[in-house]
Amino acid sequence: MKVLYMGEESLRQKSEPVKEITEDIKQLVEAMFETMEEKDGIGLAAPQVGQNIRLFVVGLETQRFVFINPEIIETSQETCSMEEGCLSIPKIYEAVIRPSAVKVQFLNLEGRRKTIEADGLLARVIQHENDHLNGILFVDKLDEELREAVIKKFNQKQENALKKHHRRLRRKGQR
Ligand code: ZN
Repeated sequence: MKVLYMGEESLRQKSEPVKEITEDIKQLVEAMFETMEEKDGIGLAAPQVGQNIRLFVVGLETQRFVFINPEIIETSQETCSMEEGCLSIPKIYEAVIRPSAVKVQFLNLEGRRKTIEADGLLARVIQHENDHLNGILFVDKLDEELREAVIKKFNQKQENALKKHHRRLRRKGQR
């Protein structure tokens, strides 16, 4: 699956709830896990693959989690800073401050309502992925100056990648 990069409209839209967990949804979840694992990610939200529905997957070590129609119902007063990255903003990592722990309600792939309390890395990934469902990217959490610098760096990387790609195409054309 193609992962959309910052700049794509789908990443900025508010996603719609999943109405029914159909076979298509199950296939989407499986494909999202494969894509995430292939790219060494630990979380991937449906809008990142162009589907504006409220669903994300998380993979930590050998554990896989599916969150459908998640709601963060509690956040800790305590916050912490952790370095975040995003498959939609590749190779850029910045420290972001968020609540240390969350309580989240969601449906699992069998359609059962679940509530979990998470802290540490899981709490972090849940908040990052949940933001994607509301069109929010981690760079939005940075102070303005840093955000602008990060966006500039990202655009520069994209431009360089495009140039490299074109050079490769030209070389191929000469052969
Ligand atoms: Zn992300």
